[in-house]
Amino acid sequence: MRRWMPRSAERPARRVGAALADVERWLLPAACLLCDAPVAAREDDTLVCGLCRSRWRAVPGPLCTRCGQPAFGDLECRICAGWPPGLARVRSAVWLSGGAQRTVHLLKYEGWWRVAEAMAAAMAGLEPLTGRVSLIPVPLGARRLRSRGYNQSERLAAALGSRHGLPVRTDLLVRGRETTTQTALTPDARRANVSGAFSARGAAAGRLVLVDDVFTTGATLLAAAAALGAAGAEQVDAVTFGRAVEPVG
Ligand SMILES: [Zn+2]
Ligand SMILES: [Zn+2]
Repeated sequence: MRRWMPRSAERPARRVGAALADVERWLLPAACLLCDAPVAAREDDTLVCGLCRSRWRAVPGPLCTRCGQPAFGDLECRICAGWPPGLARVRSAVWLSGGAQRTVHLLKYEGWWRVAEAMAAAMAGLEPLTGRVSLIPVPLGARRLRSRGYNQSERLAAALGSRHGLPVRTDLLVRGRETTTQTALTPDARRANVSGAFSARGAAAGRLVLVDDVFTTGATLLAAAAALGAAGAEQVDAVTFGRAVEPVG
């Protein structure tokens, strides 16, 4: 709860806040991490300039209502046709290519977790982020968390939570088993690799939205959704910044 303060006391506090923002800005690079162009003072909180962000390519509709991949007429969706139930909808903001791919790399492997704010801005219109939902970042395994120092999905969920006024729950979903890297695996092998990797701590309720940086085959999100569903979640959706599976042609 906010305490009442006389105006004379409030003003210096605000000045301190502004000074801290200046210091923080000074600690951040003054140039866009993608193109090196100077970033205008008004774009303060983002590390990626407006022009670079405008070059991220949005995933175009119409979309498969379930997995969020662009749909082609009545053709069966080649991404989610074999999915088990439990994950209602996935939506991604942009294709994982060019500057967007580089941005994920900055977030994940180069310690620039503040780019999560620019990524969250790109995700703002995704359908699952409407209504009363709780955001659940996909947890990292303990070993990866130690080596990275933070969970990139948690940073993304925190940025989304503050933009949309949504609660972020990091206590509910646990990644028990360390999984091997998914990069070289086929969709079926990926599903086997992560199946049972997650469990819920306590009871889940209401509508939950998983948050992850990238959607590739959905294997991780399906496994996480299964754990939340088993714990009592009413509906589990997911949002990601990037989507790796671009249709050919
Ligand atoms: Zn730029
Ligand atoms: Zn689909």
